[in-house]
Amino acid sequence: MIGWNDVALLEPKYRREQIYRAWFDAGVKGIGDISTLPKDLREKFYALLWMPIKLEKLLDSKLDDTKRALLRLSDGEMVETVLMGRQSKKISPSAEKRYTICVSSQVGCPMKCVFCATGRAGFKRNLSMEEIVAQFRFWQEYLRENRKGEIGNVVFMGQGEPLLNYEAVKNAMNILIKFANLGHTKITLSTAGVVAGMEKMIDDPDFPPIRFALSLHSAIPDDRKKLIPSQPEDFFEFLIGWSKKYHIKFASRTHFVGLEYMFIGGINDSDRHLKALIKLASKLGRVRLNLIPYNSIDNDKSVKSADFEIIKSWQQTLMKSGFTTTVRLSQGSDIAAACGQLKNSYDNR
Ligand code: SF4
Repeated sequence: MIGWNDVALLEPKYRREQIYRAWFDAGVKGIGDISTLPKDLREKFYALLWMPIKLEKLLDSKLDDTKRALLRLSDGEMVETVLMGRQSKKISPSAEKRYTICVSSQVGCPMKCVFCATGRAGFKRNLSMEEIVAQFRFWQEYLRENRKGEIGNVVFMGQGEPLLNYEAVKNAMNILIKFANLGHTKITLSTAGVVAGMEKMIDDPDFPPIRFALSLHSAIPDDRKKLIPSQPEDFFEFLIGWSKKYHIKFASRTHFVGLEYMFIGGINDSDRHLKALIKLASKLGRVRLNLIPYNSIDNDKSVKSADFEIIKSWQQTLMKSGFTTTVRLSQGSDIAAACGQLKNSYDNR
């Protein structure tokens, strides 16, 4: 299906930029409203959808300031995106509340991570750049209409593996940085570890200096392979070599290799796993660890999060070992909006 960006790409760069800029303007409801474009160009775009998504259902958490939106795409497929109010207290009462949005990059996902509802549901297709940025636009409009605040961070942690949809994700990030005034460190790309994509982002001069996070979940290769079956042979050797190149390319002090560790009770929370994590992390240069309680999926009670006390004690040990380590509290778990729970469900399961 042809989107307006397919047509915009045939135009000179300055025209394209006029269109991208207008996309974030609340007063512009379609290309016909972009007064800087000549009439013949507006007519050329007339029949093409400005917003390639439509709200199907909005779910509102009773536990915290989290919302999950199910969006219908123009070919009938569905995807979802999450809005999260910041966990930390506001700096001053008058400060505008900042939100983090979690965006999807694919309909479904082919990576089959065992702890993830999206992975269990299978893969349908990649999202286009417009469909990715439209998730940002959707929440921007929602916050404007409800006078709630602003989007402060975008995380590519929704449905899909972003590095398997490399060009669309890269273009979406560059457009958000340039036309939505989002600082590059306000965007985080999270990957399960796609070697080809990780190599490409190092060599690609157009890849923006966003924050990078790896879903690690175990520093013991055989155990990680059980959680992330797509893990290639010798992934950790690759990761150690890759992180050296990452630190050369992104040499600023604001850049680090983010390591995400989701705790699954009895699977990856032993002392042996902690020692392996410290050993691996110490070979990766500047790292930041993010410890995440497991969120149950599909009402499956056989798999549980590790005890929160264990997570806190890991945090203390990792901090004493010199690693910046945060614990991410689950948000929106009652509406299936927390990490690993996204699977286009209409209710809270
Ligand atoms: S965790 Fe991410 S990469 Fe793994 S199956 Fe889920 S969406 Fe895909």
